[in-house]
Parts: sequence; C-alpha cells; structure tokens
Amino acid sequence: MNELEAIAKEVRGCTRCPLAKGRKNAVPGEGVRGGLMLVGEAPGRSEDEQGRPFVGPAGKKLDEALRKAGVERREVFITSVVKCRPPGNREPKPEEVAACRGYLERQVEAVGPKAIVLLGRVAYSAFTGKKGRMKRGLIGELGGAKLYATYHPAVALHGRPSWLKVIVEDIKVAAKS
Ligand code: SF4
Repeated sequence: MNELEAIAKEVRGCTRCPLAKGRKNAVPGEGVRGGLMLVGEAPGRSEDEQGRPFVGPAGKKLDEALRKAGVERREVFITSVVKCRPPGNREPKPEEVAACRGYLERQVEAVGPKAIVLLGRVAYSAFTGKKGRMKRGLIGELGGAKLYATYHPAVALHGRPSWLKVIVEDIKVAAKS
C-alpha cells in the first residue's frame, strides 16, 4: 500500500471530528501524483453517496472546466479540505478544517504536485489562513508547488456561467506551471 492509499484508508475510518457521524462515505480524494492537485471545500450529497470527489453537479462543471483547459481528469489529483460531508452542505467549521488538515498536508506531500489549485474561498482560507475575500491567480508556493486560487465550480451552477471561463483560464495557467 502506498502513502496515498494509506491516507485514504485512515480517512475512511476517521472519527476525529463530528462530521464522521453524518456521513455515508468519507471522500479521501483520488488521482495521480506529480500533476495538478485540485482542492475543493467538502463532499456534497453525490460525493457522500459514492465516496468519490466531485461527482455531482459541481463535479460536472469541474470536468467541463478541465476539458476546456485541455487537462484530463485522470492526470490530476482531486480532494477537498474536509473529507466528510457537512450536514445540509453547510460550510465546514474551522475546527473541522483543523481536525482534517493533517490528511491534506500528507496528501500534498505524497502527491508532490507541480501546482495546487484551490477551488473557492474555503480552500483558499484553509491554505492561507486569510478570511474574507479570495484573491485569484498565483498566490504563493507550497512545498515547491505553485499555489493558485480560483472560483469553486459550483458558482457556475448558480446563474454565473461566465465564471466557468475564469476557472478554465486559471486552470490553464496552473497547468503550464
Ligand atoms: Fe476525519 Fe476529516 Fe472526516 Fe472529520 S472530516 S471525520 S477529520 S476525515
């Protein structure tokens, strides 16, 4: 078992925070090492049911964005800040993000991505510690990987389809890192 598989096994049995109680399946994340790493907020209903990241409506938008950016989903690693679905899809609480942080840090190390793309404000805040408005584009470096932030693909579902173009452009830039 490699390190990513070991982390996934731990996540599936994790009870470190109260989100464990309401989940059907924890969602450790999936993908390959050495490419782009995409980090969302938290699993939603479809992800919780299937135990896989970004497989619901927002996932379809992410797939579309990747396709338009010329990136294959099988070339990236996809995960989220917390690995279990918050009730009613609320934002994860800071203490839940903190409880789950160790898994994400170990995943970053094990994946060794060339670039990390933070999808939305919750991921941005988890990596930067900054609250409030998210800054898009290149925001720093982490462990040798360039760190980018863009909108969460869910924004393209809620009457803001033009934002998908922005996500596509941001992913394109990150993919060229
Ligand atoms: Fe464990 Fe993270 Fe799930 Fe909380 S969200 S139970 S810390 S895997």
